[in-house]
Amino acid sequence: MRLLLAEDDDSIAEPLVEGLRRDGFAIERVATGSAALDARGYDFALLDLGLPDMDGAEVCRKLREDSDVPIIVITARSDEIDRVLLLELGADDYVVKPFGFRELTARIRAVSRRAVTRTNDASPARIGALEVDRRTRRAVLGDEELQLTPKEFDLLALLASDAGAVLDRPRIMDEVWDQHWYGPTKTLDVHVASLRKKLGDPAWIETVRGVGFRLVDPS
Ligand code: CA
Repeated sequence: MRLLLAEDDDSIAEPLVEGLRRDGFAIERVATGSAALDARGYDFALLDLGLPDMDGAEVCRKLREDSDVPIIVITARSDEIDRVLLLELGADDYVVKPFGFRELTARIRAVSRRAVTRTNDASPARIGALEVDRRTRRAVLGDEELQLTPKEFDLLALLASDAGAVLDRPRIMDEVWDQHWYGPTKTLDVHVASLRKKLGDPAWIETVRGVGFRLVDPS
């Protein structure tokens, strides 16, 4: 996942960037509201409300006009913000300084999980001859329904929610197995192997060494 961090205070931004990178996130950090609005190519925004050049609420509203990426607002005091207003401006959640690093990453994962669900509620994902429908929990390849275990389905649905993109192992473990991932595990590889077999062509799921997996149309 690529994060945009808009935070002018180095003493907050630097340890955050370091910790999030260690957790497998790619980070672009900016220090002003206008730089945040110019940034592109990220899929999650962490937005400090107290930026030097623009009102944070205005930055939030403008970001939301442009895109539907999840936004978590970072704020200095709980009384500084009006939660309802923030949600109306399009923020998905907020954290109050000082916040724990684990609290922030848990919120990032919870918000992105909701965002994935939101995206997939509307219509099934289609990748080549494969159709994955979270609503009915059916995966169809060509005109044949795949017989998947619940975890195999969840894994395939997650990969299909962002086909072509690399999903990193911690995120997959967190979203499919609902647990934090702190070391090597065979569970994911075993499920990927059985999914490849059921899809009939191992090329459907590419391994990106040291990072994770991505779903691609092999035809
Ligand atoms: Ca600030």
